[in-house]
Amino acid sequence: MSTKPHLTNLGFQTRAVHLGHAPSPSVPSVPAATPIVQTSGFAFESIESLEESFSVPGSYNYSRAQNPTVDALERAVAELEGAEHACAYASGMAATHGVLSAILRPGDRIVVPDRVYGGSHAFFSGFLKDFGVTTSFVKTSDLAAWQAALESPAKVVFAETITNPTLEVIDLEAIGKLSRARGAKFVVDATFTTPYLLRTLELGADYVVHSATKYLGGHGDLLAGLVLGGAADMRPVRKRLIETGGNISPFVAWLVLRGLRTLGLRMERHSASALAVARHLGEHPGVELVHHPALVSHPDHERAMRLFGGRGSGMVSIVLRGGLDSAKRFINRLQLFARAGSLGDTHSLAVLPGMASHRHLSSEALAEMGISPGFVRLSIGLEDPADLIADLDRALASD
Ligand SMILES: *Cc1c(COP(=O)(O)O)cnc(C)c1O
Repeated sequence: MSTKPHLTNLGFQTRAVHLGHAPSPSVPSVPAATPIVQTSGFAFESIESLEESFSVPGSYNYSRAQNPTVDALERAVAELEGAEHACAYASGMAATHGVLSAILRPGDRIVVPDRVYGGSHAFFSGFLKDFGVTTSFVKTSDLAAWQAALESPAKVVFAETITNPTLEVIDLEAIGKLSRARGAKFVVDATFTTPYLLRTLELGADYVVHSATKYLGGHGDLLAGLVLGGAADMRPVRKRLIETGGNISPFVAWLVLRGLRTLGLRMERHSASALAVARHLGEHPGVELVHHPALVSHPDHERAMRLFGGRGSGMVSIVLRGGLDSAKRFINRLQLFARAGSLGDTHSLAVLPGMASHRHLSSEALAEMGISPGFVRLSIGLEDPADLIADLDRALASD
């Protein structure tokens, strides 16, 4: 399905830069960059050719069904993921809704880890519950608990490649095998890893979900999502997208495509800087605990390094010895880190999950999720790492 067959054996960054230009063989020159086709519909010379377009695969008729700029993005990410088909959405949550509403029916059951992105948790316990789907939450890193949960029938197993905010890397291969053995579809949210760190479908996932708001877009200036998978699995997903209309706009698709051009470079830098920050903070007397998959002290270190080619992505979580007051003072003193809840931006960001994404949980529930009062989540941006380390040291200094 690649638009450029000569690219298939080339490196990740070469493909990320060249993929996705709309082919136009009938004219002697084409725009060198992907055009933004900002239109609702497409006009035809005659009503007959309009009617005919409905039976011609790949023809453009109305942008909720197909748009050239959106197609270019979908094709590019599909190629980087090794997927046969992709659907792009207005946000990551629209993508999660898109894939799950295509598979699940009232009365079905879905199995998910208890440590999962807050928005997805809200979707399972809100939307899915209201539509008659039961969610079973499983202790994230307990394989025996997954086995037990899958003794009963389940339609979907949902997991993340790196959990938020404790940055665990669960045994995706084992859970994929379990899912297959039980006939459940395995849906994996790979937002934290991107296809640069992990080709998640090759690991046994049936579907991959991305919040492209984060690393794929990469500049903190858009909301977008993607679902990818095999052609047959994706057919009902495309149908549901056309029915429900959670589409990405052509302009936002163009911005995500622009972000993709530098994905490999950014993920290398995010990962290297995050590791430098994590190592530095691990030595600081005010820091009790540091979570980052590339640290040898991380409980899933070996698996993470094998799966992610030695890189740990750009997130670092820390626990300050002084608890909540100390964490608040620290975060308020930061100068280069913006106090903001997103991640995967060019800017570094810092947040206390207990006061943001996980604020609705009791302190017992937070403790159960590994979020103690001094817990701070850092998204390491593209600044010079020495400047980030100096900023963190300054903010920690007087505690
Ligand atoms: C942000 C995020 C989402 C939701 O994406 P939106 O683009 O905000 O809708 C889903 N999963 C993970 C892991 C995320 O970090």
